[in-house]
Amino acid sequence: MTDMNALIPHLIDGAPYGAKSPRTQGVTNPATGEITRHVAMATADDVDLAVKAAQKAFIGWSETPPSRRAQVLFALRDGMMKRRDEIARTISLEHGKTHDDALGEVARALEVVEFACGIPHLLKGDFSRHVARDLDASSERQPLGVVAGITPFNFPAMVPLWMIPMALACGNSFILKPSERDPSSANLIHELLENAGLPPGVFNVVHGDKEAVDAILDHPGISAISFVGSTPIAHYIYSRGCNNGKRVQALGGAKNHMVIMPDADLDQAADALMGAGFGSAGERCMAISVAVPVGRGTADRLVEKLVPRVQALKIGPSTDKDAEMGPLITKAHRDKVADLIAKGAAEGAKLVVDGRGYSLQGYEGGFWMGGTLMDHVTPQMTVYREEIFGPVLSVVRADHYDQAVAMINAHPYGNGTAIFTRDGDAARDFARRIEVGMVGVNVPIPVPVGYHSFGGWKQSIFGAHGIYGPEAIHFYTRLKTISARWPTGIRAGAEFTFPSNG
Ligand code: NAD
Repeated sequence: MTDMNALIPHLIDGAPYGAKSPRTQGVTNPATGEITRHVAMATADDVDLAVKAAQKAFIGWSETPPSRRAQVLFALRDGMMKRRDEIARTISLEHGKTHDDALGEVARALEVVEFACGIPHLLKGDFSRHVARDLDASSERQPLGVVAGITPFNFPAMVPLWMIPMALACGNSFILKPSERDPSSANLIHELLENAGLPPGVFNVVHGDKEAVDAILDHPGISAISFVGSTPIAHYIYSRGCNNGKRVQALGGAKNHMVIMPDADLDQAADALMGAGFGSAGERCMAISVAVPVGRGTADRLVEKLVPRVQALKIGPSTDKDAEMGPLITKAHRDKVADLIAKGAAEGAKLVVDGRGYSLQGYEGGFWMGGTLMDHVTPQMTVYREEIFGPVLSVVRADHYDQAVAMINAHPYGNGTAIFTRDGDAARDFARRIEVGMVGVNVPIPVPVGYHSFGGWKQSIFGAHGIYGPEAIHFYTRLKTISARWPTGIRAGAEFTFPSNG
């Protein structure tokens, strides 16, 4: 599998590009720490080439009837279904998540492809006959042109596929700048789209880092940008992109709380916290990183149930069928998580289970970290204020329900949250009052299905539209409204008064 010489190329106008890239970067298998491949890193000239290819392809693609565009997406779905194991292996090799978790990522990506297959219906316009004498009005949504996606490492297939099917279905051409840490999935998506019959240049992949991103942000040929990643970068993308006159949606980081009410089934809540806190080693923007038990008795009983579960976490490479979580993405990230745990302890949190120093026989070079549980965390602590993005669950004890709600509402992030309770009134009140974009009632990771839309609130999103689902139709199109009157309806002579519906 390991090929030290293999270069992951850009894919521009349907062809590999960048064999002579002046700059490349190693791509690591996080389970072993070995560099498996290198990826080409784009310059502004490479981005310009991709934009030109996408502009050329847009002309034909935007004129292709939506039903024909949908045929490509149906074929993409077929290809993904047939090759889902291979896609999952590609994800895991560079990301480190377990095979089953990667299959789950593919399944959620498929939902978006399936929704986009309904594009003829989704793009249906509005028509009003006779809005004034002999005058008809209609509204339609037209594509924007070349749009770009900039994506994070943690879902190297799903997050790009939150964007690509919707943008293409709407008639745009697309440039993807995936994470440089696990770039191979993007090239596999390109292959799947090519096999599905997408014309060259409609979808292009440009690999790289800040240099490529800045070129995208500044290129006048790009109309819109979808970004998913950390909050500081999301804010940067939003500001610079908007400043350049582009439409931008930029989804950022998270700190997701789960409130556990005294009446909740605590075994169910503890199991939910394990999956939501430690699945994918906590590297999910919808991971639950803060448990908020309400009342001292609830907290004591919950922590008692969590400790043996966290200690028993099965950690291993993606090839281990029994593993529940894999390694972290890089050594630098693993060390950052370890530093934050140390800071938590220094600031007064009780380190109930400490995952630092974990190592796995035969995989000593991997970026491992065991599950960590911290109790008595307070809102003032760094571990509470910052996104950790690792297998670390903090317990912040609340005396009563209103205190839990106020704390969550005061947090700058507002991506996801959940409440575990048997009390319908509490659940209903929570869903209404909580200032968070995605809410679970006894559902720990409330990622909306493909025909709803995904998006947080506050510092977890910049821009007006959520991603995928109906919101994506609005983001990837612009509205045109046509008022039409035919010669028999036109009165003789010029009219100088402002038109009214008389
Ligand atoms: P990141 O912000 O470091 O990188 C995201 C993208 O931005 C990558 O393509 C990267 O190359 C690029 N980038 C990085 N630094 C840049 C810079 N200085 N200038 C320009 N571009 C830059 O994020 P990550 O570490 O890859 O992913 C993890 C983060 O993503 C977490 O904060 C997580 O919460 C967030 N995330 C959010 C969602 C969501 O839907 N809200 C989903 C997944 C991940």
